[in-house]
Amino acid sequence: MSETRYIFVTGGVASSLGKGIHSASLAKLLQARGYSVTIQKLDPYLNVDPGNLSPYEHGECFVTEDGAETDLDLGHYERFLNVNTSRVNTITTGRIYRDVIEKERRGEYLGKTVQIIPHVTDEIKRNIKLLGNSNKYDFVITEIGGTVGDIESLPYIESVRQLKWELGPRALVIHLTLVPYLAASGELKTKPTQHSVKLLLENGIQPDVLILRTEKELSTEIRNKAALFCNVENRAVIQSINVDYIYEVPVNMEDEKLDVIVLEKLGLPTDQKSDMKEWKSFLNKMKTAPKSLRIGIIGKYTEYPDSYKSIIESLIHAATYQDHKADIQLIQSDSFNSETINEKLGNLHAILVAPGFGIRGVEGKIMAAKFARENNIPFLGIGLGMQCAVIEFARNVMGMANANTREFDYKTPNPVFDLMEKKKAVSTKGSTMRLGAYDCELKKESFAFKAYKTKNIKERHRHRYEFNNEYLAQFEQAGMISTGENPETGLVEIIEIPTHKWFVGVQFHPEYSSTVLKPHPIFMGFVKAAIK
Ligand code: GLN
Repeated sequence: MSETRYIFVTGGVASSLGKGIHSASLAKLLQARGYSVTIQKLDPYLNVDPGNLSPYEHGECFVTEDGAETDLDLGHYERFLNVNTSRVNTITTGRIYRDVIEKERRGEYLGKTVQIIPHVTDEIKRNIKLLGNSNKYDFVITEIGGTVGDIESLPYIESVRQLKWELGPRALVIHLTLVPYLAASGELKTKPTQHSVKLLLENGIQPDVLILRTEKELSTEIRNKAALFCNVENRAVIQSINVDYIYEVPVNMEDEKLDVIVLEKLGLPTDQKSDMKEWKSFLNKMKTAPKSLRIGIIGKYTEYPDSYKSIIESLIHAATYQDHKADIQLIQSDSFNSETINEKLGNLHAILVAPGFGIRGVEGKIMAAKFARENNIPFLGIGLGMQCAVIEFARNVMGMANANTREFDYKTPNPVFDLMEKKKAVSTKGSTMRLGAYDCELKKESFAFKAYKTKNIKERHRHRYEFNNEYLAQFEQAGMISTGENPETGLVEIIEIPTHKWFVGVQFHPEYSSTVLKPHPIFMGFVKAAIK
C-alpha cells in the first residue's frame, strides 16, 4: 500500500472499556487481510514512562525488546499481533514535555514563546508520524489513553484534530463508549455516548465509527439512535458486547464488520480473504478444553490481577495448546505461614512465584519455593521469584541462614544477589535497571533446553540485582545449577534443580514474549510438567 493510514481510537463515558483490546482486535483483523499494522499508545500522565509506577496504579509494566518500560496495553498488542513493539510505540505526556523542555534549553525554538499549541502538539504529531514515516506499516493505530473531557488528554485530542485535517482521507477516528443498562427500568441508554461525542465535537473531532460497549444486545433502534445523535452512519455503529475471554473480541468485531467499515472509509478495497483460522482454532480450543489445571501465582499484588497480566495470559496460552483450561489462583504471599501453607498451596498442580520489588511478602515467596522444592511440585520462579528460590536453597539446603539479596538486607554476610559494580553508583530510579532483551546460552540436558529446543535464546529483563557468581560453585555442588548464562558477561539467567520434577527459575521475563499464536517455551514446559 502506498501511503500509511492513521486510525485514532478515543474513549468516552468511562475508563477501562478496553480501548487497548479493541485497537488490538482491529489491528488483528487488518493483519489477517494481509496488511502490516502497528499500534501505539499515548498516555496522558506526567510520568516519563510507567517504570516507576506501582502496579496498583497502572497494572503491570510491560517491557519491549529494546528496553522501554511501557503500559500493559503494549502487551496486548504483541500478544494479538505476534509482532514486537518498541519504544516508539509508547508516548507519555511526561516524555513529550521533557523533550520539549530539553529542546527549549538547547535553544532550538529560536527565541519563540514555547506553548502547548504548536510546540507540544507538534512534538506529539512528530511522535505519531514516526511509525508511519518508517515505511513499514500500512496502518498505524493510535490509542489515546484516558477519557475524552479529561484536562490532561486535551493536547492529544488537539493533535488528532490537526492530524485529521492534515491527513484528510488517510485518517479515521473511532470512538469507544459505553451504553449502560439500567436494571430498574430495563433500558439501555445512549445519552452518555451522545454527551461524550459532543465533547469530541467541541474539540473539533467528528468520530467516523462508534464502538458501543454493552452488557446486553443493542437493538437496531438503539444503534440508529446513537448514529443519528452522533452524526455517524448507521452501519458504522458497532456493538461490542461483554465476553468471557478477551480473545473473542476480534471475532466479534469481524462479525460486526468493523474491518470492512474501516477499509471502506479509508478508501481501500475490502475483497481480500481474511485469514483468522488459527486464531479461531485457538479460541475454540480455549473454550472447550476438557480438563483444568490449578496453577498458583504467588505474589503480592494479587488483589489487582492486571499486575500479573502477561503471566496470566502466558499460562492461558500454554495450557490451551496442551488442551487444558488454566485455573489460575492468585495467592497473596503473606496470606499463609508454615502451618497454613499446605492448606493454601497443597492442592496446586504447579506453583509460580511472581516477580516483584520491595520486601513485603518476600518471606512467603521463599516459603512457597521451599514448599514446591520439598513436595516435588513443578515450579517456575520469575525475576524476584527466581531470586527467592535461590535464597531459599542457600538458607535451607546449603546452611547459609542469613543468605539474602542486597535489595532486602544490605549487610547480609551472604549476598547471593548483588548489584553489579557499575550499578552501585546509580541513585536515580527511572530506566536504570537491566532492561530489554539480552542473549542467553542454554546448557544441554536442562529443563530449559528441553523446552526451547535450541541453545541460543534472547529474553527480556527488568531488574537490578544479579546472581552472585562467587557462590555458583557452592550452589552447583549442593544441587542447584545454572543452566542459562549471558555469553558476554557470564551472568546467571536460569537456575534449576535437575533432580526435581521441574524446578526452574528465570531472571528474565518470559511472559513478555508469549503470544496467542506462539506460546512461550518456558510456559509450555512448566504447564507440561504440571499436567504430568
Ligand atoms: N527486585 C528484583 C531486582 O531488581 C527483581 C525484579 C524482578 O522481579 N524482575 O533485581
